Amino acid sequence: MRIVREPLKIQKLVSKLSRPVVLVPTMGALHEGHLALVRRARKLARTKGTVIASLFVNPTQFAPNEDLERYPRPFERDSSLLRKETCDVLFAPVTADMYYPDRSISLIETRLSQVMCGASRHGHFDGVCLVVSKLFNLVQPDIAVFGEKDFQQLAILRRMVRDLNFPVVLEAHPTVREPDGLAMSSRNSYLTKQERGQAPIIHQTFSLAEAKVRAGMASSAKLISWMKQKIQSAPLAKIDYVTVVDPTSLEPLTQLKPPLLLAAAVFFGKTRLIDNRLIQ
Ligand code: AMP
Repeated sequence: MRIVREPLKIQKLVSKLSRPVVLVPTMGALHEGHLALVRRARKLARTKGTVIASLFVNPTQFAPNEDLERYPRPFERDSSLLRKETCDVLFAPVTADMYYPDRSISLIETRLSQVMCGASRHGHFDGVCLVVSKLFNLVQPDIAVFGEKDFQQLAILRRMVRDLNFPVVLEAHPTVREPDGLAMSSRNSYLTKQERGQAPIIHQTFSLAEAKVRAGMASSAKLISWMKQKIQSAPLAKIDYVTVVDPTSLEPLTQLKPPLLLAAAVFFGKTRLIDNRLIQ
């Protein structure tokens, strides 16, 4: 596996790589969820194509009060995990090479980022769009793989690819979970033992909620209020939002008619966990 640090170098290298080029953008601190994306990328690239993973803790998607500084950065471990997954190239730039101090061009998403995580993390998805568009320009991937764990991110990136005509196909991978249902996340390492014990309540709530939808529950407001109560039955859970939205437009639904997305963000202590359930 080649490790490339400089944006100019990856641009030069890409012109010589055999296609398809499949990109997996990450912020590192890799877990089985990330590795599943890399395996999917390997399959899509087949033996001839090229799998590129990127590892960059992107400052423009963190608000000043968020965890940019303490975000885990186990580079040696990450690169050895990627090597084992037969990743071909690891692109791991430093911030100074990705962002000029006097950069003055931004991307602003005005619709899908107004709800859910975007409502509590102002500017977060604009930062995501900026860095992903830079990665697309640098790596010129044929395919890019993203996780459904970050469903809103995926919906926004689909919109960005459509609206800005990026010549890339986005591939979605289902959420990879711990045996007790908790969605894998680099931030799970922040949880205390007690918090970790209660965190699967989000996934459990979605399973019970899905059963209610399947059994014919019609009112979204009723289901949301039921889900909130259920999640709050875990004493350490503090809800940021619980919602039911259309999976493409992310607009709130009043009637529970599939396809629909159940989505939530819940604090356990200082750690904010997100999860979702697509009901088709
Ligand atoms: P991150 O490093 O958190 O920015 O995530 C990098 C990519 O991995 C994103 O496309 C995420 O949606 C995806 N991802 C993170 N956690 C999971 C998971 N538990 N299952 C599937 N994909 C995931």
